[in-house]
Amino acid sequence: MAKLIKSIRGMHDVLPDDSFRWQSFEAIIRQLMAGYGYKEIRMPLVESTDLFCRSIGEVTDIVEKEMYTFEDRNGDKLTLRPEGTASCVRAGIQNGLLHNQVQRLWYSGPMFRHERPQKGRYRQFHQFGAEVYGIETPDIDAELILIGARLWKQLGLTGVRLELNTLGSNQARIKYKQVLVDYLKQHEDQLDEDSLRRLDTNPLRVLDSKNPAMREMLDNAPALIDYLDEESAQQFDKLKVCLDAVGVEYTINLRLVRGLDYYCKTVFEWVTDELGAQGTICAGGRYDGLVEQLGGKSTPAIGFALGMERILSLLESQQQQQPETIDIYLVLLGEASELRGLQLAEEIREQQPDVKMIVHCGGGSLKSQMKKADKSGAEIALILAEDELKNEQVAVKYLRQKKEQITVSFDELIKFITNIG
Ligand code: ATP
Ligand code: MG
Repeated sequence: MAKLIKSIRGMHDVLPDDSFRWQSFEAIIRQLMAGYGYKEIRMPLVESTDLFCRSIGEVTDIVEKEMYTFEDRNGDKLTLRPEGTASCVRAGIQNGLLHNQVQRLWYSGPMFRHERPQKGRYRQFHQFGAEVYGIETPDIDAELILIGARLWKQLGLTGVRLELNTLGSNQARIKYKQVLVDYLKQHEDQLDEDSLRRLDTNPLRVLDSKNPAMREMLDNAPALIDYLDEESAQQFDKLKVCLDAVGVEYTINLRLVRGLDYYCKTVFEWVTDELGAQGTICAGGRYDGLVEQLGGKSTPAIGFALGMERILSLLESQQQQQPETIDIYLVLLGEASELRGLQLAEEIREQQPDVKMIVHCGGGSLKSQMKKADKSGAEIALILAEDELKNEQVAVKYLRQKKEQITVSFDELIKFITNIG
């Protein structure tokens, strides 16, 4: 027997019984974003490696060890996108969408990171993200947070908390970095290998460490908030006032620094206790410097991205999603019925495009067809056999309700179907 080829570790199929859950989630996102006046942008899955090195930062988990990078046939260095923000900024600059304009954008699709696969952490995973360009005031920070809050509400998710912090201006961070490095050097014996390496290159990232052995030492480290510049402090206060005004609860988490280099000022994460170590379902923040850093004109920017698998898994554990349904299974007995059935089915589809109907194909006995009708999840079976055909009617059998079988004439069928929906 030929050797089986399997999918790549950490990359999964979405199987037919599951795809409906994705579609429902995506439909809610689409409607929500349209409601807030955001437009969808679709970027390529592959970009120049440079784009990610220059935006995400050389000394980050993603660029240091997670990117799928390869040379194409021309010898160009390419990378499967590990996130959407860099591509979105690249597309915005390239197409003249950013300078002196306000853009409210969203995207969704697969991202690739070579991580250790585990529940909630995959090598191909999906993000939905929103990005806003051209607004520097924190009212827009609040809007993005509200979109998150409304999404959880519409999905029926509970137990999701908002954590908030500010990273201040670039200057404030430079000042703070020195203080932090001094403190970390005093505790060098407690730093793990990653942190030691980052001490010189990206000390802020040490705060982001998930190593429990360093937790207490990091909790006692000087806090960035004490070194904040006036403007960032004011903006942070304004954001809190906005969130208070609309009743969005949050906790300030001074250790929240986000893993990517480009963030400044507002950073936030939506977290849950129900997914173990993979508890962050959505993360975002301001990145005012990135557009200029990638060659565009200086443009304020803020966005978030959420992990779709993590949210779907949360929805599943909270049993928040309905299974996919079928309205009708059309049972056809005998060759003449098969032909008439085909015509009837097309008439129904013409008049009622929303009806979900499976037409039985492949013949077989009434019993075997009814078995398939039941398995399909259909609400009703329409049965067309010799007798029904002669009388120009179909038998209607209710598969999910205790109701008597009835007959409906061909003429009345469309009207009948309209009423079952
Ligand atoms: P983590 O700390 O969990 O590694 P991150 O900081 O690397 O997350 P971001 O780059 O901010 O994550 O991505 C935004 C969101 O995308 C995360 O909050 C998470 O929900 C999701 N996500 C990130 N990496 C993965 C992955 N490998 N598999 C599934 N979801 C992921
Ligand atoms: Mg990560």
